[in-house]
Amino acid sequence: MDTAFIDALKRCDIESIKKIPKGDLHNHAPRGGNVRFIEKWAGVQIPRLNQKFLDLGDMQRWYEKNIRCHCQGIDGYEVRIKGAFQQAKDDGVTKLILSLGLGEEALYGSLPNFIKAISSIHKETAPEIEFIPELAFDRGSNVNSILNLCHEYFSMNFYKSIDICGNEFAQSIANFKPLYRLAKSYGIRLRAHVGEFGDADSVREAVEVLELDEVQHGISAANCKGIIRWLSDNNITLNICPASNIILSRTDDYKTHPIRTLFDGGVKVTINTDDMLIFDVSISQMFLDFYKANIFTVDELNDIRKNGLT
Ligand SMILES: [Zn+2]
Repeated sequence: MDTAFIDALKRCDIESIKKIPKGDLHNHAPRGGNVRFIEKWAGVQIPRLNQKFLDLGDMQRWYEKNIRCHCQGIDGYEVRIKGAFQQAKDDGVTKLILSLGLGEEALYGSLPNFIKAISSIHKETAPEIEFIPELAFDRGSNVNSILNLCHEYFSMNFYKSIDICGNEFAQSIANFKPLYRLAKSYGIRLRAHVGEFGDADSVREAVEVLELDEVQHGISAANCKGIIRWLSDNNITLNICPASNIILSRTDDYKTHPIRTLFDGGVKVTINTDDMLIFDVSISQMFLDFYKANIFTVDELNDIRKNGLT
């Protein structure tokens, strides 16, 4: 498999790269699909993204106006989830962590109905993919008000991971400590979005306070040698989404992307899609883009690919 991936990269053969197993560990499920899949289902033409965003609000407005409007209600939600599984399958993703926001289950009236629906979409669309459901909280959530609910949700043994997403500056990450302690007692893997917009210190603080196993993005850590070393020493994986970081104006391009600095500092990194339905850059395409931009060698990219499968 290693040789096949390396040879495919050297030939710049995207179709062969797509066939090689890879992980996608940072994927917001309702925005994880493929725009052409939605176009076909809705019978519409969606304009292709030809701009960078200033921030998450800017991105959300574009998404609502151009994509979300075509897939509303339960049918629109399900087609987007189906699209995420289909996209993963088409890109050779064999390990898929899909992040499902707290509250998405409301469409189904109860969590058991929601679990049934998501599980059957998985079974019908891509049963061969190892699917790991993740429960995501908005950074602005009132933690005390959702703590009891989460007790019930964690005990259902569906969610295997948790995440915090949204505005990194909405409130102190420490407010989530009781929630993360509870999740840890259920053996749930602990992740959170930090260091995408926040600074290097915010990455270390979140890992220490919440006892994170992995960080979503964490790219600002590249600005501090001490924190790079600390992440490496503590074996903390950063699930990085390079196309997302470029389109959200966190860095200019592949050449300036902090992933190289983090990798050189010994930090375990993975390459992921984040919001494929908006950014429209697959994992296979990002591997190829890094190779073409001469940022990583084929062997290094193969090591990063394998990080996503462990
Ligand atoms: Zn994300």
